[in-house]
Amino acid sequence: MADKPMPAERIDLLDLSREELTRLVADWGEPRFRATQIWRWVYHSLKADPEEMVNLPHTLRERLAQETYVGRLRVVDTITSEDGLTEKVAFATRDGQVIETVLMRYTNRNTVCVSSQIGCAIGCPFCATGQQGFVRNLTAGEISAQVLYYAQKLAERGAHVTNVVMMGMGEPLLNFDAVWKAIRNLNDGEGLALGIRRFTISTVGIVPGIERLAQESSEVGLAVSLHAPDDALRNQLVPINRHYPLEQLLKACRFYVERTGRRVTFEYALVNGVNDSDECAAKTVELLRGLLCHVNLIPVNPVPGCPYEPPPRARILRFQEILVKGKVQTTVRLRRGVEIEAGCGQLRGRVLAQ
Ligand code: SF4
Repeated sequence: MADKPMPAERIDLLDLSREELTRLVADWGEPRFRATQIWRWVYHSLKADPEEMVNLPHTLRERLAQETYVGRLRVVDTITSEDGLTEKVAFATRDGQVIETVLMRYTNRNTVCVSSQIGCAIGCPFCATGQQGFVRNLTAGEISAQVLYYAQKLAERGAHVTNVVMMGMGEPLLNFDAVWKAIRNLNDGEGLALGIRRFTISTVGIVPGIERLAQESSEVGLAVSLHAPDDALRNQLVPINRHYPLEQLLKACRFYVERTGRRVTFEYALVNGVNDSDECAAKTVELLRGLLCHVNLIPVNPVPGCPYEPPPRARILRFQEILVKGKVQTTVRLRRGVEIEAGCGQLRGRVLAQ
């Protein structure tokens, strides 16, 4: 769809909850069911042009065209892996910023990895986004638009989005309201109807956000970037640890498990010679003992200008062996998309450098 500049006062329909949309059309003197019809056009039929919403009266279509829009994102760059299974797209937002979204195709699922902020304030040293600084939060509409882009693309191939992970640029729990609204909208049964358990929020460990997530939903998955088993090392690799040290983080994770009955996924980016020792593995076992969880070991993505390298394969397997012996469920994750710069923020960095 053409990326026409819109007056600022127009409303992005993707920024509204269904209740808000219902109130809007009621304010226009329309019956409530019109809101459901519009919702279905936008989230189920994936239409953005009111002219195509043929079961709406002409006057309503005109008003939608004048006062609202559906905030699609403009593609500025796309990279596809050699095997065609991973695709990364850089989108331009309406204010000219660049965000990234990744599609990962598996045998039985299509996972969209979504950004929640432009840049990131956390500043993890091995992350391209962290090196670019924080610009602003994304709106709920901009978050949903990333998923709807791939919903449409996959629909053209007779497939659909099966999972959404908030694991792209930014820290989703620092943009909780917009992230939560986007999840609710994408989950709504009249629209995309993506099951609530198909969403995962990935965090570096924002303790109040984890607690709020546990209170809001017993269904959304939680992934925590652990990366180190003690505070001294984690302070270096995940600077937010100085605010929310491991003891607080693990307490919040236990609260999440108690409230939801779901396991926590811990992401552990293995960095050669930094956090991949036998001692680190043994400390990780101690830290997670008794907690319902799963650990994903991910060899760190090389980032230009950053000295961190992934460990050799034998070291990764040794680390895994110690965790498994300690009865911590552990998977070594494939570094999918390394060749397409799928480490978060790397494509944005490339686009901005052009
Ligand atoms: S890894 Fe995540 S939290 Fe850390 S700087 Fe990158 S985007 Fe931010």
